[in-house]
Amino acid sequence: MSIEFLTRNIRRYLVGKEQDFTFYRANNFELPEIKKIDLYIHIPFCKNMCPYCPYNKVKYDKNLVLPFLNAILNEIDLYYEKLGKIEISSIYIGGGTPTNLIDELGIILKKVKDRFNVTGDICIETNPNDISRYVVKKLTEYGIDLVSLGVQSFNDKFLNLIGRNYSSHIVKPAIDLILQENFKSLNLDLMFALPGQKIEDILIDVKKAMRTGANQVTAYPLFTFPYSTIGAYLKIKNVKMPNIIMRRRMYRKIHNLFTDNEFQRVSVWGFKKENATRYSSVTRNNYIGLGPGAGSNVPGKYYLNTFSVSEYIKKCSQNVSPIALKMDFSNLMSSYHWFYWRLYDTYIPKKELYRIFGTKNKKISRILEIMKLFGLSFEKNGMIVLNERGSFWLHLMQNYFSLNYINKVWTIAQKVPWPLKIEI
Ligand code: SF4
Repeated sequence: MSIEFLTRNIRRYLVGKEQDFTFYRANNFELPEIKKIDLYIHIPFCKNMCPYCPYNKVKYDKNLVLPFLNAILNEIDLYYEKLGKIEISSIYIGGGTPTNLIDELGIILKKVKDRFNVTGDICIETNPNDISRYVVKKLTEYGIDLVSLGVQSFNDKFLNLIGRNYSSHIVKPAIDLILQENFKSLNLDLMFALPGQKIEDILIDVKKAMRTGANQVTAYPLFTFPYSTIGAYLKIKNVKMPNIIMRRRMYRKIHNLFTDNEFQRVSVWGFKKENATRYSSVTRNNYIGLGPGAGSNVPGKYYLNTFSVSEYIKKCSQNVSPIALKMDFSNLMSSYHWFYWRLYDTYIPKKELYRIFGTKNKKISRILEIMKLFGLSFEKNGMIVLNERGSFWLHLMQNYFSLNYINKVWTIAQKVPWPLKIEI
C-alpha cells in the first residue's frame, strides 16, 4: 500500500469527502471580513543557494530589489483596500534571507504599520553571513522583537557538506552582536541527521548552542524534499544519510540533553529557556502572506501567491493580486489544521480541543486513545502532552501525512507560475 493511498484515506476519514484538497486557479481575490490576523512577509532573495533548501527563493540580484520593493508595497495596499485598517497580531518575516534587503525592510515595515494596526511581536529570520553591527542596529530600529539565526552547525565539515557559504568562526561573533541588543528572544537553528554526522557531532553542536546565551534552540533534521537539489548533491558527495533508527537515537539524545539543561520543549524540534518568549514560525492559524510563493490562510480559504518572482512583480506593479491558487477550507478542515499544529507544539490544551471539536467527537477520542495506548502522551495541567517518544513518532507521521502533498503542490507551483489546477 503506497503512502499516498494511505494518507489520502486517513485524510478522507478525518475531514470527510466535502473537503476537496485540489488547488484551483484563483481568478478573483475574495476575502471574508477579518478584524485581526497575523502577517507573513516573504523576502525571496539569497546570496547563497543552499542545495538542501526547499524554500521559494532566487539568487540575490540588485536589479530586482527595487521592482520587488515596489511590488510588495503595492500588495500591502491591495490588502488594505479590501480589509481597511485591521489589527495585525504578529508579523513573521521569512525567506529567502530577509536581511539581504535590510534597508528595504524598514520601508516595508513602515508601510505595514501605516496601513494596519500592528499589535504583536515582529519576528525575523537571518543568517550568520548577513549579521553586522549595521544590520543588528537596523533590526532594533525597525522594532523587531524576536530573531532566528540559521546557524545549522558549528562544525566546518558539516557547514561545507550542506553547502553553507561561511565557516564556523563567524557564528559566535554574529550571535554576540545580536545578544548585545535587547531582543525578546534569539533562536538558533541547528540541523541534525546530516550526511555522515554521528551522535557525538550533533551533541557537541547542541552544547555549543546552549552555551552561547541564546534563549531558544531549534534542532531539526535535514528533510529531503525532492524539489530541492539535495538528492543530486548527496550523490556527488557520495555520503549516506543517517537512517531512521539513527535519527530516532539522535532525537532522543538531543531531547534529553536540552531538558537536562534547563531548556524546555516548545515544539517537536524547539527548546527554550523557561522564562524566554517562544520564537515560532509555522504554527499560526490564520494569516495573510505577502511575497512570491507566500500562502494566506483566511477563514474558509487557503490562497497561494504565484511562486515566480518576475510574475509576482509584474502583477503587483499593475495593482493586481499575485494570488495564483486557492483551496476552499471547510470548518472541519480548519479544526484539524489547528489540531495538526498543536501536535507540532506537542501540547494540546484540552479545553480548547473540546471547544473546537466538542466533547463527543469519536475521531478525536480515538486518536487520543491510540496516543495513550502506544505510550506517546500523558495529561498534565489541562494539557495533553506528547512525551519524547510521541513527539518523534507523531511528527514522523505528520510528515508522511503532509510532505508528499506539499511536495507536489510546490513542485508544480515552482515550475508553472499560474497553474490551472493542482490535484492531489
Ligand atoms: S537555507 Fe536559507 S540561506 Fe540557504 S538557500 Fe534556503 S533560504 Fe537561502
